Amino acid sequence: MLTIHDLKLEVCSPCQNDCELCAHADLMRHIKGYQLSLEKLDRFLFYTERSNYFIRSLSIHGPGEPFLWKELNAGLRRLKRSRAIGWISMVTNGLLLDRISEDGLACVDRLFVSVYSNYNRPDMIKEFVARHGAKVRLWDGTNFWEHTADPTQTAPATGGCNCSGPMLYDDKIFPYCGPPVFGAAKAKGVEILSIPNLWVPLGPNYMANYNARLVGRMDICRHCWANPNFEGRWRYNDPRKTLPNTPPDAIGRVIPGAGQERRLVAPVVQ
Ligand code: SF4
Ligand code: SF4
Repeated sequence: MLTIHDLKLEVCSPCQNDCELCAHADLMRHIKGYQLSLEKLDRFLFYTERSNYFIRSLSIHGPGEPFLWKELNAGLRRLKRSRAIGWISMVTNGLLLDRISEDGLACVDRLFVSVYSNYNRPDMIKEFVARHGAKVRLWDGTNFWEHTADPTQTAPATGGCNCSGPMLYDDKIFPYCGPPVFGAAKAKGVEILSIPNLWVPLGPNYMANYNARLVGRMDICRHCWANPNFEGRWRYNDPRKTLPNTPPDAIGRVIPGAGQERRLVAPVVQ
């Protein structure tokens, strides 16, 4: 059996926000209107089980807002039923917490809710946390990490990566990378699907050619903000969408003490 420590599952690309420094923005724009179908999810589970892989931790991403995934509850139930999947976590902007059913939520081990400055449902989130607080972690979205303001800048590819893969998007597995690789391809000026060995089609033993020594050491890593050799800084995050009835202290209502200084290190991409 092969253990995959953390796999990122990209389930849908729409999002209510358009955060200026969104970690997933380039993938989100690459695949506008994307929704992972149950058929494709079943194919992924089938090949993962048949290959005798065990995914210790599965993170459900967007690249947009995963609570806008049309198959949210049915998809969670299928994932939980699979013997190939261990711990399941999700990342959400918390605007649609009432879309998840009780049995859907029972399939999730940890829910990371990022609260942004346009958050307009403080009563809903408080009630949700009161009921399910043991599995919910709130994240203060006042500031995001900006790796470099200059998209032409490069950094040495000496290994290490703040966004280790693999990632499933559509019916493709990116064995080394998560969503930042799409921004890296854009900065490098190449068509991502034309780069050899960066992704493999979903199929039997899809991780067969994985080479851990390549993580963070490929040429494309020189353009990728998940490369920790880039210097960066925390900067105010503008979600760039106005939502009705947003209180002026939106984040502070949910997370008292929001907006405090952060340590000067890049976050790991969830
Ligand atoms: S809420 Fe912001 S950071 Fe999250 S996926 Fe949407 S645009 Fe990106
Ligand atoms: S640093 Fe390299 S390995 Fe890591 S996500 Fe970016 S392109 Fe992929």
